[in-house]
Amino acid sequence: MAANPLLRPTAEGLWCEAGGFHVDPWRPVETAVVTHAHADHATPGCGRYIASPNTLEIMRVRFDRNLEGVPSDWGERRSFGDCAVSLHPAGHVLGSAQIRIEHREEVWCVTGDYKREPDPSCESFELVRCDTLLTESTFGLPIYRWPDSKSTLDAINGWWRENAATGRTTVLMAYAFGKAQRLLAGLDPTIGPIGLHGALRGPTEVYRDAGIELPPTVPANRTTAAELSGGGIVISPPSATGTPWIRAFEGPGGMRIAAASGWMQVRGRRRWQAVDRGFVLSDHADWPGLLRTIEECGANRIGVTHGFTAPLARYVRERLGLETFEVPTRYVGETPPETIRGDATPEEALAVERPDS
Ligand SMILES: [Zn+2]
Repeated sequence: MAANPLLRPTAEGLWCEAGGFHVDPWRPVETAVVTHAHADHATPGCGRYIASPNTLEIMRVRFDRNLEGVPSDWGERRSFGDCAVSLHPAGHVLGSAQIRIEHREEVWCVTGDYKREPDPSCESFELVRCDTLLTESTFGLPIYRWPDSKSTLDAINGWWRENAATGRTTVLMAYAFGKAQRLLAGLDPTIGPIGLHGALRGPTEVYRDAGIELPPTVPANRTTAAELSGGGIVISPPSATGTPWIRAFEGPGGMRIAAASGWMQVRGRRRWQAVDRGFVLSDHADWPGLLRTIEECGANRIGVTHGFTAPLARYVRERLGLETFEVPTRYVGETPPETIRGDATPEEALAVERPDS
C-alpha cells in the first residue's frame, strides 16, 4: 500500500483519517459510513451512520428502532474533513452502496458486497471510476461463474410445482435479508401460497415500502400451517429448518428442502448441507463479474477484501499488471453457511447471521 493511504485498516475497521470516519466498522465508532445492512458490514452501537435511506431502514428494523442515521441519496456529495463522500448502488441487496471517497484529486471506491447481474429486488450496480478500488472477493476463484438467474428462478418454480403436485411442501432456506426477498420476487404465486418465517417479515416490509414488487405472502405459523402444507412454499432462515417449527408445514407427501446460494456451485457442499436440491443463486459478483469491475473502473490499485483475497489479488497483479493489496476483515477464515447448526432455534438463527452468499 502507499505510504499514506486514504483508507487504512485499524482494530475498528477501515479508517479514513482525512475524513474522520470509518467504512463498515466492526466495532462501535463515532461516524460509520455503511455499505449495507448485513451483519458483517453494519455494526450496532455507532454514534451516527451515513448510509442509503433503505440501508438505514433495514438497520432500524433489525438492530435499533432509534438508530441515528444520516440518509444519503445516490450520488449526493457530502463533505467530511478534506473528503467528498458519495454513495452509488452496488446491486447486492436493497440499499447496498459502494462508497466513493474523493480527496485532493484522488478517488477511492469501496464496493462493499456487489453483483453485476440485474436483480428486480434491488437497485442496479453503478460503475464508479476511481484510482483505487477496494473490491470484495467472496467468490474470487475462477470456478465461480453464475448461471443466468432467470433460468435458476424458473427451475425453482418448476421444482415447487412438481412438489405441490405430489403433496410435498416446499421449503427454501435463505438469509432473512436479501436472498429471501430476491427469491420471493422471483416466485410464481399462481403455484400456491407463500409463507414467511417471522425473521423475514420486517425486512420484507421495508422492500415493499421501497416499492419493490413482491407477491402476496402469509406468516408461516400454526394458523397458516394447513394452508401451506402440501402445495405451499415456506421461506426460512437456514437454521430454522432443523427445528420443530418447520414440521408443522409437512404435507401429505412430506417436505422438500432447497438452498439457493453461490456455494451450491460446488457439488460437495450440497451433500454436506443435506438439502434435497441446491440452486446456484448468489448476490455476489462471480469471477468474471469481479474481473470485469476491476477492469472497467479504471483503477490502477486494487485492494482485495472479504473472501478469496490472495488468489484474486495474485491474478490481478500477474495477469492485469495492477498494483494490489489485501485488506483484512473481521471474518478471517470465513466459514461457509453450511456450518450453521441444524438444531438452532429461530432466535439463534437470527443472532448468528452469516456473511450472506
Ligand atoms: Zn452482504
